[in-house]
Amino acid sequence: MTMSDTHKTLLRGAKVLGGEPRDVLIEGERVAAVGTGLDADGATVIDVAGQILLPGLVDLHTHLREPGREDSETVLTGTRAAAVGGFTAVHAMANTFPVADTAGVVEQVWRLGRESGYCDVQPVGAVTVGLEGKKLAELGAMRDSAAGVRVFSDDGKCVDDAVIMRRALEYVKAFDGVIAQHAQEPRLTEGAQMNEGIVSAELGLGGWPAVAEESIIARDVLLAAHVGSRVHICHLSTAGSVEIVRWAKSKGWNVTAEVTPHHLLLTDELVRSYDPVYKVNPPLRTEADVMALREALADGTIDCVATDHAPHPHEDKDCEWGAAAMGMVGLETALSVVQHTMVDTGLLDWTGVADRMSVRPSAIGRLTGHGRPIAAGEPANLTLLDSAYRGVVNPAGFASRSRNTPYEGLELPGSVTHTFLRGRPTVVDGKLAPTPQP
Ligand SMILES: [Zn+2]
Repeated sequence: MTMSDTHKTLLRGAKVLGGEPRDVLIEGERVAAVGTGLDADGATVIDVAGQILLPGLVDLHTHLREPGREDSETVLTGTRAAAVGGFTAVHAMANTFPVADTAGVVEQVWRLGRESGYCDVQPVGAVTVGLEGKKLAELGAMRDSAAGVRVFSDDGKCVDDAVIMRRALEYVKAFDGVIAQHAQEPRLTEGAQMNEGIVSAELGLGGWPAVAEESIIARDVLLAAHVGSRVHICHLSTAGSVEIVRWAKSKGWNVTAEVTPHHLLLTDELVRSYDPVYKVNPPLRTEADVMALREALADGTIDCVATDHAPHPHEDKDCEWGAAAMGMVGLETALSVVQHTMVDTGLLDWTGVADRMSVRPSAIGRLTGHGRPIAAGEPANLTLLDSAYRGVVNPAGFASRSRNTPYEGLELPGSVTHTFLRGRPTVVDGKLAPTPQP
């Protein structure tokens, strides 16, 4: 046995899911015991009195950019950013160069994740060859690969052809896969630069209307019901989208949905600054949309928070609005934004946060080692949070290779102090740990 197999860590006084203080003993890769006054014999003791202990966070929607855009992010830098944000697993989106539309590319991303050691990487496979929307990719081969792909998405683009979408739903039904749709009717959003509304009219910028998202969601929940397959709606951004998902769920259809942290906090009023840091797809919407999204996440209509972490290098963002790339980094600030918008507002407790940021995204992605209860015998994938912390976001300290955060200079609550991946610390006292290879 090597030392890491037997190493013990005792977390003293952790508030498990925000409850009463408990000691949590980690032994090797698993939680060995949860209780009071636990024996610390031979263990490294960490005093975490007052800190919130959550199951390691899971992201269904991360852009790691490797292969092909290593100037924005790599699997290593992205998984380090994930660990700092409290994540123990991320789903890596398929819009890389080359596109992750074959068993070879998804296995490459999966292996890079294993080598990083900071966070599990579950590749998402493309739905169509080259994200072109015309011909189904090798969904079965990606499923049967070492990466074991269960989630497929052309994210960045919408699978807009209804026949292709139907075939994809039929294909993945056989192995319990899911199609994650970026809902954007392409013709309705030609030339779109921001949300279509009062602000876009005043600024004279091309509008991205809510109906372009809602019409695709309506079509896809009907298709999923018709086929009897699973559909997941990426980054819901409008109040109308919430109504459609609520209706689909009331019918008992197998529909799930996610919302990003930025759509829970920011509105299109910010675009008046013309700062491209606020340029994102789908665009920032209105205050009424933000409130509807918060309520829907609280009542479970929206299943989970997903970051849509979209790193871009300085030269692709620091330019005039029309030329700037769309997207924001989000892994390192997600939990703080959720605390600010959902917990500090009384909409969700920490059990709810664990559900929406770990349990449900794991279930949608069919991950078996994450989103588990914090109990003896379970994998020690854990996140500790100092919820009393208040601090100003400073992207200079980010682990991500990119800096395109909309929160620079904003005070946000909460700070991840420790992250454990199968018992090994990936973050200690808020800083990346030197991690041994798995
Ligand atoms: Zn997208």
